[in-house]
Amino acid sequence: MIVMKFGGTSVGSAEAIQQVVEIVRKYRERDLLVVLSAMSTVTDSLREMAAEACGGTEPSSSLSALRKRHDETIRALAEGEERNRALEVCEGLIDELSGILHGITLLKELSPRSVDLVSSFGERLSVVVVSAALRSAGLSSLPVDAREYVKTNERYTEAEVNFAETERRLSAGLVPMVSDGRIPIITGFIGSTDEGVTTTLGRGASDYTASLVAGAIQAEEVWIWTDVDGAMTADPRMVEDARVLKEISYLEAAEMSYFGAKVLHPMTMQPAVKQEIPIRIRNTFRTENGGTVISSRTFEAPLGVKAVTSIDRLCLIVVEGTSLSRTPDTHARLFKTTAERKTQVIMITQASSEHDICLVVDEKDSQGTVRALKKEFRHEVAEGSLEEISVQPDLAVVAVVGGGMKGTPGIAARTFGILGEHGVNIIAIAQGSSELNISFIVERNDLQKTVQLVHASFGLGEDGDFE
Ligand code: ADP
Ligand code: ASP
Ligand code: MG
Repeated sequence: MIVMKFGGTSVGSAEAIQQVVEIVRKYRERDLLVVLSAMSTVTDSLREMAAEACGGTEPSSSLSALRKRHDETIRALAEGEERNRALEVCEGLIDELSGILHGITLLKELSPRSVDLVSSFGERLSVVVVSAALRSAGLSSLPVDAREYVKTNERYTEAEVNFAETERRLSAGLVPMVSDGRIPIITGFIGSTDEGVTTTLGRGASDYTASLVAGAIQAEEVWIWTDVDGAMTADPRMVEDARVLKEISYLEAAEMSYFGAKVLHPMTMQPAVKQEIPIRIRNTFRTENGGTVISSRTFEAPLGVKAVTSIDRLCLIVVEGTSLSRTPDTHARLFKTTAERKTQVIMITQASSEHDICLVVDEKDSQGTVRALKKEFRHEVAEGSLEEISVQPDLAVVAVVGGGMKGTPGIAARTFGILGEHGVNIIAIAQGSSELNISFIVERNDLQKTVQLVHASFGLGEDGDFE
């Protein structure tokens, strides 16, 4: 069995879905399970509709556009009974969504729980469209709502999966469908709590759904079909001569995605690694290319580094003062405060003097986190053992990643040397003991230049000595 996941662009239009149908047809004999994202931009648009409704205006024109897009795609791909049935199901879903948005408009209130419910419609619609297209092409498929199978906690918008229960349900529910000769077309991204309330697993998490399914049914492989040729040495939108990495390890892929390589959700590796299920990344629109294979195997890059990744729109929170070195529980209180707020701390740096500690967080988390820290440490700030907590906005983190970095000297010197020569100011640096990456903070304005310089300095581009 092979689990195939198609991302937003791959199901973004009738032409793209036609391509999906051809891919499914080609590999049909290998017993497929398909996981889908919403059609491209639909999740963003659903969230905007929810926000508009919360402001008191019904998002009628966006809702009509959503209806029209799905309706036209079905008409272009399906015929007869299949077409009518799919149109009817989509119509029902849009009506349900309309009712929910109406409720939000009246209440002028939008909880993370409601955001998840509204966001879930993208995948619930796309599975109906694609399944109808496959059936019209003579491929026996059926849409599957993952909320019945993927069980999570109540951390809305970033729900955590209950692995044991989810595995049990996925394997009991999906394997018989495949044995019956059918292709399950499963919603990515969504799950539900024990009480059946809709949750989502985080933005871009359909990749994660695919590997959860693969782990549960012990698939041979997971194939992530997307709009680029594979995991690359850098984001091709940022570095023109970025190259495809033919083979990387689970650890390298996890590190790259954690530090911003959007091509894979960072949790994707977790269910696959346990059973050593290889993950392939392939281009839906260039099927002739082999893509990237992620497994326990990897290759050695001449200079140890395989990719340069980045995360934009970050802030640095600085906590400084004598309390850090003199009062051992200051650190504990600091991280208790961020944990209680569920702030994701992307990077931490502290010099050995222990005079200050810097936390790097997403800009959307910064205000709330600073407010919570100021409250927690108000006495220390008042008595002067801590300075006023400060924030530096408009930053980005850049990470240099590669399994071969361990034990290769000179990587930091090469990275910072080239940046020094070109006048890029490094604001903070971190390296984990795994030595799989070095990450550092620069100003947002320097981001693209930094990634390009570092990428070139490790010979990762087209004309570098690198395979
Ligand atoms: P999908 O909708 O198929 O899930 P995504 O937009 O989530 O696709 O991910 C694919 C995008 O990831 C690419 O279009 C590319 O711009 C971006 N990307 C960022 N970093 C990398 C990288 N290192 N390698 C490949 N793609 C990357
Ligand atoms: N549709 C969801 C998102 O846009 C999940 C995904 O595409 O993987 O975040
Ligand atoms: Mg994605």
